[in-house]
Amino acid sequence: MIPAEWKSGEAAVIGLGRSGVNAALLLARDGVRVYASDGGGDAAAEAGATRLREAGIDAGAGAHDLERIARAAVVIASPGVPPDAPPLAAARAAHVPVVSEIEVALRALDGIRYIAITGTNGKTTTTALIGHLLRSVGKRVADAGNIGTPLTEIALREDRPEWIALELSSFQLHDTPSVDPAVGVLTNLAPDHLDRYATAEEYYGDKALLFRNANEQSTWVLNADDAGVMTMAAGVAGAHRGFGIASAIAEMRFVQEGSGGEIRWNGAKVLAREELPLLGDHNVMNAMAASLAVISADPAHTTRNALARIADGLRSFRAPPHRLEMVGERGGVLWINDSKATNISSTQVAIDGMTRPTVLLLGGRHKGEPYTALARGLERHVRVVLAYGESASIIEKDLDGIVPVERLGRDFAEVVARARALAKPGDVVLLSPACSSYDMFRNYEERGAAFRRLAGAA
Ligand code: ADP
Repeated sequence: MIPAEWKSGEAAVIGLGRSGVNAALLLARDGVRVYASDGGGDAAAEAGATRLREAGIDAGAGAHDLERIARAAVVIASPGVPPDAPPLAAARAAHVPVVSEIEVALRALDGIRYIAITGTNGKTTTTALIGHLLRSVGKRVADAGNIGTPLTEIALREDRPEWIALELSSFQLHDTPSVDPAVGVLTNLAPDHLDRYATAEEYYGDKALLFRNANEQSTWVLNADDAGVMTMAAGVAGAHRGFGIASAIAEMRFVQEGSGGEIRWNGAKVLAREELPLLGDHNVMNAMAASLAVISADPAHTTRNALARIADGLRSFRAPPHRLEMVGERGGVLWINDSKATNISSTQVAIDGMTRPTVLLLGGRHKGEPYTALARGLERHVRVVLAYGESASIIEKDLDGIVPVERLGRDFAEVVARARALAKPGDVVLLSPACSSYDMFRNYEERGAAFRRLAGAA
């Protein structure tokens, strides 16, 4: 239910991207007066404003009316808007509550069953897997949140799904006081977003908000190998269910036996490693997290038949684009696009997943963590690092004496051409940049698409 306080005044929606537009439409549908604005005046913002005005909503691109925002009953912040942006600062100064687009949708979707997924890495893969596995057991499911489709867009549909697989970033959790999933998944914790958070503790604090409404009915699916996850969840109300490779007590485990090993739930085989079509141990963790979440969601998912369907779902799942996506093999060189690896820990697992000598493309906009943390994996798997973009000089300095580094500029075609010249038959060329893409591209998707295109052009 939309709270009465929101209807007592005006809701100010900040940002006219897909989530802002849908949040405004949903609020208006449910009887709230809306003012929506975007500080940018580009074509996308203009299109969003036009769409809302056509629906009878007051909207403008190119500027925010800060005084009007300060008088609002509630402010809805789009995920891309930094907390210190002027409209959010104005709202806070005037003590106007700031909530996420997810919060608006959860209010409208009262009573919906959802599995919420958060953590530093593996959120999107695990969310997509959960959606896929729930469909494999016959449920009508929507994948939503940070994965792509705004939750408000789902709430606007006539048909309600039976389940939602909901990916939540730390920023979304920060402003979602109603979050109360049937099952909550915490994939792992590592420092990230030090460009936006003052300290790692502050970032972890937002992740912990997954548990803010924990109660005896809650179920938490937890990475038992990750001490940080287990510490954060200790003492949280509800059932705690663990998955892990290293942990011997987790109910969902990976057991190494013979050449491949297998995933087991309560001692019974779910799937052999070789049947899971994903690279790297981290994806075994994601597969276990997703399977355990789906098993935990409904007692009907624990029957032998349901478990067989879950195993089938794991077999038929494919890696989402830009996540260790195999782009092609040319002249004996395998090209892998991991453009989504925008922090050190995700690049680390990518390197660890390599079984062939690797030419690594590292660079972009620096996010604050030192690259020295990559040393062990680099020594083991990487023949040469091509450091490019804004962070090139920092990478070169950090990795001095650890692995050969070639420093390049901002011409991505030149970076890929150099990789091609250096790679020998039997090698891998891996784009796993450990940096954001914003110095050279609009986003990581554009970076990955450029890599794919350049890799394909002989
Ligand atoms: P997120 O949505 O949390 O960013 P993704 O599923 O999109 O996670 O994966 C992003 C990158 O993070 C992948 O390319 C991979 O390198 C790394 N990654 C994925 N899963 C894990 C995991 N379980 N543990 C550590 N790193 C992971």
